[in-house]
Amino acid sequence: MTRGLSEEQDLMRASCRAFVDDVILPFIRSNWQREWDMNPMTRLPPEILVGAEEVGIRALGVPPEFGGLELDPASEVQTFALIAEEIARGDSGLADKLVQNWKVSVLLRNLAPEHLQEKWFARLVGDPQFLLAHCLTEPRGASDRWLPYNVPEAAMQTRAVKRNGEWIINGRKQFISNGYDAGLYVVYANTNPAVGMLQGTSSFLVPRDTPGLTVARCNETLGCRFMNNGELVFEDMRVPSDHLLVEGDALGKAGVYFRPGKIIQAAKNLGVGVRAFEVTADYVQNYVQGGRILIKHQAVALRLADMATRIEAVRALLARASRAVDDNAPDADVLCNMAKVHASEEIMKVAQHALELHGGNGVMLDFGVEKLFRDASIFLHMDATADISKLKIIKSMFPTTAGKYAGPE
Ligand SMILES: Cc1cc2nc3c(=O)[nH]c(=O)nc-3n(C[C@H](O)[C@H](O)[C@H](O)COP(=O)(O)OP(=O)(O)OC[C@H]3O[C@@H](n4cnc5c(N)ncnc54)[C@H](O)[C@@H]3O)c2cc1C
Repeated sequence: MTRGLSEEQDLMRASCRAFVDDVILPFIRSNWQREWDMNPMTRLPPEILVGAEEVGIRALGVPPEFGGLELDPASEVQTFALIAEEIARGDSGLADKLVQNWKVSVLLRNLAPEHLQEKWFARLVGDPQFLLAHCLTEPRGASDRWLPYNVPEAAMQTRAVKRNGEWIINGRKQFISNGYDAGLYVVYANTNPAVGMLQGTSSFLVPRDTPGLTVARCNETLGCRFMNNGELVFEDMRVPSDHLLVEGDALGKAGVYFRPGKIIQAAKNLGVGVRAFEVTADYVQNYVQGGRILIKHQAVALRLADMATRIEAVRALLARASRAVDDNAPDADVLCNMAKVHASEEIMKVAQHALELHGGNGVMLDFGVEKLFRDASIFLHMDATADISKLKIIKSMFPTTAGKYAGPE
């Protein structure tokens, strides 16, 4: 559907869709074993990111003065959503890989000093394989950090201390998208253990070759496998003082990352659902069981209707939430969390219908439908768990009751 799209959005979507239909889907269909290659660096052929570059979807979010594509700022997040959905319709892992570049670029253009923007945007724009990553999650704290537990004991364990004009960082981060192969990381660390995390967390720009940074492993995930999720260890990692992005209130300032981030998350999720619907609609109109094509059996038809309805409901909430972010509306935060969690739960059900309607074929690796089910399951965990997202929604709505720390008065 093209309703409400600008000419620019329509053209971008068309070229992205052609890339997905002509390159990504045929690649996935004829290389289904490839996502199980246990060498993360050879899983996705480099030509795929080169192709993404050629259609202009690799480095969205980079300011035009640093070689980026200028999107209409009044609808930038809506455009992100449109393109993220299209890519994820082809492959959700590829979409993960690319959207980290967009999300971190938005953060950098807001927070990084000019000379570092110039340096790193040039690297990103110049090298199709260059990736960015955003490192918050630690073994003892993740999405719950966004709850109102603004007390020292809930703060990050990764510590940064200023010494002789540079920052020394110790700690570790886990489950980081592009963590295994990124060239540049944004890392969050505690710089003041005496206060709550909203006042005591700072963010840093960390190039991959920084002394003291070790990429400890690539996580082998259930789905979205073409994005290499990684673990990082920092041992007396030395970061120059100009690489400090935000001192103290880095979590609050990360809103510029998280609002579009959650929209993009829901949009990728929608793309997985759309693909699940496409392949299922095709299957039930061709596969014969009981002497008739499947769709003639009413139970099958009802499930297809359920899939379509859930997809449209996700799309409607996503459109409303992404418009709210572009408009900087007061309810943008809460709508982003709603769109993200709603998409994750609804598309999981869409993927389940797809799996079931394919019967035995649904669970065969070479058939490809189970991949959509695996990809859909990842969204329940990314960018906050479902429960934490819901707690955040209610915290925004009732800040003085649900929004207060549940610990001692
Ligand atoms: C594929 C993938 C990509 C990711 N990419 C990134 C990334 O790029 N950068 C990054 O920083 N992180 C990333 N993450 C991490 C992600 O944000 C976390 O996995 C998520 O926030 C959940 O944290 P956790 O895994 O530590 O689960 P936990 O916090 O251990 O949660 C376990 C369970 O306990 C519940 N729970 C935890 N704390 C509370 C609480 N206080 N109150 C009530 N319930 C609670 C949760 O809802 C969940 O059900 C990624 C994760 C995945 C799976």
